Amino acid sequence: MGETKAEDRKYRVSKSVLALLAILMLMVIAAAVYVVPRYGKVFSAFNEQRKLYSAAKTDLSKAEKENAELKKQVEDYEAVKSETDAARDEVYAMAAQLEKDIIDGKSDKKICYITIDDGPYNRGKDFIELFNKYDIKATFFLTTANGDKLPDQANLTARSMYPEYLKYGHTIGNHTYSHDYSKGGVYKNAKTFIDAVEKQQEFTKAATGGFTPKIVRFPGGTSMAADQLAPIQEALRKAGYGWIDWTIDSGDSFGGDDAKADKILKKVVKASKDPDQKIMVALFHEWSKESYKAMPQIIEKLSAEGYIFLPLFYDSAMVKK
Ligand SMILES: [Zn+2]
Repeated sequence: MGETKAEDRKYRVSKSVLALLAILMLMVIAAAVYVVPRYGKVFSAFNEQRKLYSAAKTDLSKAEKENAELKKQVEDYEAVKSETDAARDEVYAMAAQLEKDIIDGKSDKKICYITIDDGPYNRGKDFIELFNKYDIKATFFLTTANGDKLPDQANLTARSMYPEYLKYGHTIGNHTYSHDYSKGGVYKNAKTFIDAVEKQQEFTKAATGGFTPKIVRFPGGTSMAADQLAPIQEALRKAGYGWIDWTIDSGDSFGGDDAKADKILKKVVKASKDPDQKIMVALFHEWSKESYKAMPQIIEKLSAEGYIFLPLFYDSAMVKK
């Protein structure tokens, strides 16, 4: 019996060992089936996050670098802009003095303000190139009558032309947003006129990054304002604008033979010999091929007469206020 008991005990012990082993095996299986893959999933998710984090860090440092470069570009631009503005102010101050000397008979020089209306047109680029070639400056009176489109290049925006005029020291004037001089148009009353001027001003400011012309040219000239002229002038004065007509119309808008290059040239050259035209404001249109054709000879002949070509400025004696 005693032996049997001992056998029994042995048997029971090995049963417990077996049970323990079985539990251990179950735990191993559970670990293999459940815990390890789960941990693996967590681990790979963690790795994924770490990759994303390091990519984000790289992007951030790249963005910071780009930002610094951009900031430098803005600073460079500001520096060039303030230099350009200072140079422009200097030129205008000299021009104002020269005008005074001419008017007082103290200078033999003559000034021609070439003014080109109704742009932007794609031809504006040709005019700019031509003026740059002769190293002279001009004034472009712009309108948005055609919307934000170049009438002779419908796939280009008018907006994109605005900085081009300023880039080389030419200047921009305000020729009203609509250029509508029909009955009920800009000349209806002072408010409709000022609204058309301010709207053009906003467009110019946005298209140039802040340039605000202070000189207005009336569509068709001041005579078109008829009985609204005085109230319009009062409104312009109040809003800080000057305005200007011309002392010689090239005739490029007359149509027929008068608008041909040779007639334009003859007319402007004839005017240049007139003692009353020592400070000349010449009217041309940006859409006129004929004016563009006549322009090189106009510049050469007027230069020979002692003319210099300057951009218009608010303090000019020719700008009414
Ligand atoms: Zn016009």
